[in-house]
Amino acid sequence: MSEPSTVAVTITGADRPGLTAQLAEAVSQGDAELLDFEQTVVRGQLSIGMLLSTTTDELDGLGGRLLGMGESLGLSVRVLPGQGDNPPRHDRAIVTLLGRPLLASHLAVAARMIHELGGNIDRARRLSRTPLTSIELWVSPVDAVMLRRVMAIAGADSGFDVSVSPAGIVRHGRRLVVMDVDSTLIRDEVIELLAAHAGRGEEVRRITERAMQGDLDFTASLTERVRALAGLPDTVFAEVLAAVRLTPGARTLISTLKELGLTVGVVSGGFAEVVVPLAEQLGIDYAHANRLEVVDGQLTGRIIGDIVDRATKARKLREWAAAEHLPLSRTIAIGDGANDLDMLAAAGLGIAFNAKPAVRASADTSLSLPYLDSVLFLMGLSREEVDDATASYHARQQA
Ligand SMILES: [Mg+2]
Repeated sequence: MSEPSTVAVTITGADRPGLTAQLAEAVSQGDAELLDFEQTVVRGQLSIGMLLSTTTDELDGLGGRLLGMGESLGLSVRVLPGQGDNPPRHDRAIVTLLGRPLLASHLAVAARMIHELGGNIDRARRLSRTPLTSIELWVSPVDAVMLRRVMAIAGADSGFDVSVSPAGIVRHGRRLVVMDVDSTLIRDEVIELLAAHAGRGEEVRRITERAMQGDLDFTASLTERVRALAGLPDTVFAEVLAAVRLTPGARTLISTLKELGLTVGVVSGGFAEVVVPLAEQLGIDYAHANRLEVVDGQLTGRIIGDIVDRATKARKLREWAAAEHLPLSRTIAIGDGANDLDMLAAAGLGIAFNAKPAVRASADTSLSLPYLDSVLFLMGLSREEVDDATASYHARQQA
């Protein structure tokens, strides 16, 4: 069976109100069927791409009307008769480039990688200009796993962040987002804030650093650090909670996720006495962290029950996903430390956030700029949608 006669129309020029209506009227005479239509405006300059199916008899008339209209409106019009529809786009991947600034050379690097892997950029759009610039590319046909591997290296070498995820239904609908707390949701390490109250801040900070680099067993180092807290009054929890500094974009991320009806959890090798009330203040659905033993209003320097380690973090991700009836493909995990690695690997999308090199090397995606709300751009939301969601969430909270 021969392919239907189709005509590809591209129109560019200065945009003005009512232009698309006029152009559509010019092609609507006769029985032309609309097979595809895309339009963008960049700084007042319009680009339209259209694919129409029409009979050979009508083709000349259609082309003539469009060229005449283009001339009278000062637009550049190309009419290309041919055969067939756009093929369906399978094996599509979404490539998100993020930078502050995002350079033309970054796009050049990304586009060259895509080309070298046999992919084509079908569509592109800007998602944000603040707090960073992000551009989303729709690429097909491409092996997303391979593309992710080469892009991660290219991005790190050239100084931009990049995320590659398979296009598909997983980008729509419910998801679970699980975050680490220390140096991810917040800029501090809770144990260091507690230790500072005990006058042992520097000592504890050094042990934390070694543990996060993966040089020191996490459980051993935690036990050692908690011992330094012995004798602190339990009023320290409220003081530390008040002193916690959220990561830029943390509130925006959570309020947008909640407004979209998504589920948010935090899992921490820090302490429930601070993490749980913090999660409640932020409207976070699930929270799990270590518990500190308190006797007669004083910390004993011991942890109650099992220590939250990297295996616990991954297990909590699985448990909360199961409780929400979500497959792991619908989970996103965000963390910065070595104890987040299992959780990042288990999640549908694992994001290393301002992470140590060892963590960055093994995560799907890494974000090197300190804005937690940029996770939303990786999910395909635009800055404008995020702002709308945040405003609407806060309006409902106040109502
Ligand atoms: Mg952390």
